[in-house]
Amino acid sequence: MTISRREFIKWVSATAGMTAVAGCATTGGGTAGRVVVIGGGYGGATAARYIKMWAPDIDVTMVERGAEFISCPISNLVLGGNATMQDITMGYDGLRKRGVRMVRGDAVAIDAAKREVRLADGSALGYDRVIVAPGIDFMYDPIPGLKSAGAQDRILHAWKAGPQTVALRKQLEAMRDGGVYVLHIPMAPYRCPPGPYERVCQIADYFKKAKPRSKIIVLDSNPDLVSKKGLFLAAWDGMYKGMIEYRPNSEIADVDVKGMTIKLQFDSVKGDVLNVVPPQKAGAIAEASGLITANNRWCGVDWLSCESTAVKGVHVLGDATLSAAGMPKSASMANQQAKVCAAAVIAQIKGQPINAQPMMMNTCYSFVSGRSAMHVASVHHYDAGQKTLVPVKGAGGVSTAASDLEGSYAWGWAKNIWADSIS
Ligand SMILES: Cc1cc2nc3c(=O)[nH]c(=O)nc-3n(C[C@H](O)[C@H](O)[C@H](O)COP(=O)(O)OP(=O)(O)OC[C@H]3O[C@@H](n4cnc5c(N)ncnc54)[C@H](O)[C@@H]3O)c2cc1C
Repeated sequence: MTISRREFIKWVSATAGMTAVAGCATTGGGTAGRVVVIGGGYGGATAARYIKMWAPDIDVTMVERGAEFISCPISNLVLGGNATMQDITMGYDGLRKRGVRMVRGDAVAIDAAKREVRLADGSALGYDRVIVAPGIDFMYDPIPGLKSAGAQDRILHAWKAGPQTVALRKQLEAMRDGGVYVLHIPMAPYRCPPGPYERVCQIADYFKKAKPRSKIIVLDSNPDLVSKKGLFLAAWDGMYKGMIEYRPNSEIADVDVKGMTIKLQFDSVKGDVLNVVPPQKAGAIAEASGLITANNRWCGVDWLSCESTAVKGVHVLGDATLSAAGMPKSASMANQQAKVCAAAVIAQIKGQPINAQPMMMNTCYSFVSGRSAMHVASVHHYDAGQKTLVPVKGAGGVSTAASDLEGSYAWGWAKNIWADSIS
């Protein structure tokens, strides 16, 4: 198929929602405005990068508490021994070179009246527009036994890639052959719907090679697998037959850390390694800034611009948002939301119209072994009548089967999104 340059530009503009800002990058000299981005993960880093690329005359400051970018995608492979922490850890020099001012620190409050972001060290950053992309924080109230820092050090979630990924891998390595690994999955919505089931495959892959007498018990709060069900079950009943016991409707009541037991409403399950992924909500800065609008958990936004429905001048994107229908909390989605948001923020600062028809796409790959993967994809367009994003009927879909070819596509996806977010 051949495609003309004009058609290609039209397509890129529509998918990334950047029609309104196509001319901005040429506006040189002076400072057109100040944008502060809170959080340098998939959403925040992409937003900072694209604002600087499309409008170099806007000052962009990114506040991030971590020294490096550590990717959750591919982190399950680290648990399985099929990738390393080095593979998923990257510096922020690419963004610095693009002119993004990096501030290492913790944002603790937004003063929307003064248009200031306050940091934990007492300093403040002025802004014209602020983008909040803090990802998720965990809700420990429903699991009293895990409220203390000591308990959380012992029973890990590894649902933010980093030290917990390393620590959980060590627990798995230290486990005896014939031991039991128990994974608890919270009720949806949570970060990365297929992520827990991919984790099960990765740990089964490791046990099959290194501890073949070991077992995996999956305690899922949900009534069924919430993503790629047939494909995961094919792996569990095929290459990992007899290793995995799946128990749906298994909402957690508490954890007995000393006894290494997960308590359910009518049952309890003992294990050698317990991996509890708690329910989640928008990162703490969202609550501190009055951005939470739904179920005490998520931030409502106008999907034309990702501007908060609660506080003007503040945009929210990524996992912290109240997802539109069919929209997963994923790195793909955060990256796409960031581009729509970046375009809208530039348009607002420059007094230009915002693109009225943004589109976003999602692709999530899951590895079922060290090499073999499958995907789920969807496309979402803005429906002016409903004033939200809705899935495009007939677009997207799932793989028919996992394959090594899709495994190579999955690594290609990861390398591309890393380049598109932080290089
Ligand atoms: C095991 C696992 C596997 C996954 N696999 C995939 C996959 O294959 N594909 C996919 O698309 N998605 C995947 N995901 C989901 C993906 O990681 C998230 O959806 C994505 O990271 C969301 O991006 P975000 O920018 O909202 O949050 P994050 O990427 O978590 O970024 C938030 C950033 O904000 C910083 N921060 C938070 N609060 C503050 C503050 N107050 N001050 C300063 N800094 C702050 C944090 O340090 C962090 O760096 C996976 C997730 C997990 C857990």
